[in-house]
Amino acid sequence: MLLGCIADDLTGATDLALMLTRAGMRTVQVMQVPDASTDLAGFDAVVVALKTRTCPPAEAVSLSLAAADALLAGGARQLFFKYCSTFDSTDEGNIGPVAEALLTHLGARQAIVCPAFPTNKRTVYQGNLFVGDVPLSESPMKDHPLTPMRDSNLARVLQRQTKLNVGTVPFAIVDAGAAAIKAAMAAADARDERFLVLDAITDRHLVDMGTAAEGIKLITGGSGVALGLPANFVRQGLMKSAVAPTSMRAPKGRAAILAGSCSAATRGQVQAAVAADLPTLRIDPLAIASGEVDAARILTWAMKQSADRPLLVYSSADPDSVAAAQGKLGRDKAGRIVEETLAAAAIGLADAGFSRMIIAGGETSGAVVNGLGVTTLEIGPEIDPGVPWTRAIGGRELVLALKSGNFGAPDFFLKAWEKLS
Ligand code: ADP
Repeated sequence: MLLGCIADDLTGATDLALMLTRAGMRTVQVMQVPDASTDLAGFDAVVVALKTRTCPPAEAVSLSLAAADALLAGGARQLFFKYCSTFDSTDEGNIGPVAEALLTHLGARQAIVCPAFPTNKRTVYQGNLFVGDVPLSESPMKDHPLTPMRDSNLARVLQRQTKLNVGTVPFAIVDAGAAAIKAAMAAADARDERFLVLDAITDRHLVDMGTAAEGIKLITGGSGVALGLPANFVRQGLMKSAVAPTSMRAPKGRAAILAGSCSAATRGQVQAAVAADLPTLRIDPLAIASGEVDAARILTWAMKQSADRPLLVYSSADPDSVAAAQGKLGRDKAGRIVEETLAAAAIGLADAGFSRMIIAGGETSGAVVNGLGVTTLEIGPEIDPGVPWTRAIGGRELVLALKSGNFGAPDFFLKAWEKLS
């Protein structure tokens, strides 16, 4: 292993694993801190998917350090701390505390900070994060229920989360290329700036940043920053670039989509599937709470549908319906019972011969993957930016596409299957 990665959520981990695979690294994703029984031999990069984005900071730190130790023991020469491209965090953390703990643990001086992912319209200019055309603080992220982002200036946001000094490397320097970035990092080091927020508005900036990061022990950011890292290892003669897969062999079996995400992108994808006449079943937390809907009923419905087409079970709903369910059941319970029901349905479907599944939603994916007992994923072809097909290694024969709620084009549920053979 050359690159060890620690991701603060599951679909973010998959997004990063895909980026590394596309850039030529043999990459595997593991669902928890690897132990001696996890076979990581033969992989250039290992991505550990944690669930530490919104847990208490102390827990996020201890899990991240445990992951770091496991990755270093496996031979990692460089660590990558992956968080969301919208820098999802609060003044308490968890990006600052985790990054600071990792930097200290590694005995390193400096880490790069860059959530930019231009392909998905996340860019950083003069230290400010933009989502599409608007600053982060004017994007829908301002109303996120757990991590409302009300300040677009990342240096300011991060400085509230860490006692180490935060500096910036502005656009003009990043745009001048890797040598200029390296020089700026050295100058910042002399000023004792331990975290450096780097601007990036195109992939070229990310590649140059990756080049400048050769030999740096800790990189933090969105998946975009990983773009330039594999080439460093190739240049050093440590690995040969692998060709990214364009299709994935899938076990024979039926196909299902389970959508628990209520994000705008997923709701659009559900609409497209309904319009395309896929067999669809809508479930909702109130019906689950009243006992009207459960996994067994979902399974009975699924077995009556034609095996020729993927079927879709979804709880995705608009903000008013979500608020109504949360008002009646409480926010935690409304979410939890949907996750549990979809996870139980996934187990039933897998037992009944469904071997190809798309899961929409980060938390939903976590619940389903846990339920299915999947611990390790091989990364396959990209379906849309940030979302690959993956194959479970060990355990059940399954291919899975774990989609972060807001990712994917409207026809994602319809076209994803074309990449399977
Ligand atoms: P995303 O990636 O879009 O954030 P997640 O799966 O991470 O999606 O989160 C969606 C959350 O909303 C889950 O906890 C899910 O169980 C919950 N949920 C899904 N459908 C509903 C609904 N109709 N009402 C209330 N909560 C819901």
